[in-house]
Amino acid sequence: MTFAIHGLNVSRGVAIGRAVLVASSRVDVAHYFVQPHEVETEIARLRTGRNVVVDEIRRLQASITHMDPKETPQELSALLDVHLMLLQDEELVGGVKRWIADRLYNAEWALTTQLEVIARQFDEMEDEYLRERKADLEQIVERVLRAMKGAHSPVVVQPQRVARKLSQQDLLLDDTVDVPLILIAHDLSPADMLQFKQSVFAGFVTDVGGKTSHTAIVARSMDIPAVVGARLASQLVRQDDWVIIDGDAGVVIVDPSPIILAEYGFKQRQRELERGRLQRLLHTPSVTMDGEKIELLANIEMPEDAPVALSAGAVGVGLFRSEFLFMGRQGRLPGEEEQYQAYKRAVEGMKGLPVTIRTVDVGADKPLDDSLRDDAHLNPALGLRAIRWSLADPAMFLTQLRAILRAAAHGQVHLLVPMLAHAREIRQTLAHLDQARKQLDNRGVAYGAVKLGAMIEIPAAALSLRLFLKHFDFLSIGTNDLIQYTLAIDRADESVAHLYDPLHPAVLRLVADTIAECRAQGKGVSVCGEMAGDVTLTRLLLGLGLRSFSMHPAQILAVKQEILRSDTTKLAPWARRVMEAEDPERELADS
Ligand code: PEP
Ligand code: MG
Repeated sequence: MTFAIHGLNVSRGVAIGRAVLVASSRVDVAHYFVQPHEVETEIARLRTGRNVVVDEIRRLQASITHMDPKETPQELSALLDVHLMLLQDEELVGGVKRWIADRLYNAEWALTTQLEVIARQFDEMEDEYLRERKADLEQIVERVLRAMKGAHSPVVVQPQRVARKLSQQDLLLDDTVDVPLILIAHDLSPADMLQFKQSVFAGFVTDVGGKTSHTAIVARSMDIPAVVGARLASQLVRQDDWVIIDGDAGVVIVDPSPIILAEYGFKQRQRELERGRLQRLLHTPSVTMDGEKIELLANIEMPEDAPVALSAGAVGVGLFRSEFLFMGRQGRLPGEEEQYQAYKRAVEGMKGLPVTIRTVDVGADKPLDDSLRDDAHLNPALGLRAIRWSLADPAMFLTQLRAILRAAAHGQVHLLVPMLAHAREIRQTLAHLDQARKQLDNRGVAYGAVKLGAMIEIPAAALSLRLFLKHFDFLSIGTNDLIQYTLAIDRADESVAHLYDPLHPAVLRLVADTIAECRAQGKGVSVCGEMAGDVTLTRLLLGLGLRSFSMHPAQILAVKQEILRSDTTKLAPWARRVMEAEDPERELADS
């Protein structure tokens, strides 16, 4: 039966495919396809993992039989029997083998997929005792996953599976192997997302998350349709269901009828045509109708994104979120050499164009590691994140600064510092930079000059611009956080997403003042938050005086199209009206 789930539209477009439910396992699970000739090896890996756990349990049972019965809880032995039984259960083992053989999933992915299928059956059971066996099943699957971890393989890209669009014929034939896959999860950390960036999914849906949560941002950078904040999606959708993601409307349609499928197939093709049309603007200079030149820069997460930025027509990188180099590494941070090589790859990848490297911004919804999620602090977004984190760990900060300075010997590097608010923090940052240079001098290592920038993302910073402009060459407005901190809205929390408002007069005032003050003092200013890539806001930002936008490469051409149609002489008075309007959204729509 067809039904729809509503969430937040975070990444545009339509994706049609089969649902893959990703269990929130505490063990990292790689998702990749094996080759048909590798099926047997994969099944053997699974068997080995299972045998390891069976042996562990048998050893435990043997040790229990030698213990004093008074000291051994009676349930323990029975429980171990249940675990052994589950490990040999044909539904589990046979199901996993089928996912491997029929779908070519790697063993870990097949195991978690089958876990999800059986867990649902347990959920539906009347008998409470049987229902509770779900936890046992999860435990043994986790143990098998851990046992297999030694033979863990990396994520392997099979891009043809993502790129392929479905024809009506495909949908009717219901083929199983060559169909796009839609990832459905309760939550995905930014580190998970990075893994999926190299992976096989054509779209994704999560139960939680806000519009500018980092998970949503990475989805936009992958340019695949996504819906977050879909609340019960991971419970309502079943493994292998057909689903449509309407990334424009923020809707997920489950088990669509042939008529709905046909309609969305049409929409998907329309969007492809639209993209094709935009490609024609690739080499058109980004200049408004009245001759204002507008700089279009790219936001990137990894050095490997640099070629994507170039081919989208970016004239530089306005924000390299360096924290993605630090994530999902089980606490082992990248050293100076590794970071230097990564920054150098980004600089060289941009072929002489400037690269703005932001110092690490971890904390809040960007934990270093899933296991290190910050549940201990009540307000992690107000806690030790970004520059605060860097200043709290000088050795780590100096390592990063040295790596960035060294990369600057290979091209134009701008160094950007996130989340500054206090004069004291500015002084400390500058002192660390001096120290990093001295350390490199002492070692006789080459490094280059950098332009120094600060992010304006805390209202306190936007209200003390003189202080910032005294010390920095340029400012970059991080509207994602500026909105979060101005309106006291957690950007990752879908339950307050309706209050997250880029058009709030207070936000617009802070953005407008920052742009105006920078321009008055002849300093560079750009916006690198999600507002910069939102085509519905392009003209407003131009009207507020913005001439430099930094966004995901996938959005550059659509923003350029808006720029080419704009006349800034007319936009300035209109932007003032939007800022002063009681209902700015209406004013924006009426223009
Ligand atoms: C911002 O806050 O707008 C920004 C660009 O930084 P991030 O989204 O990485 O916090
Ligand atoms: Mg920010």
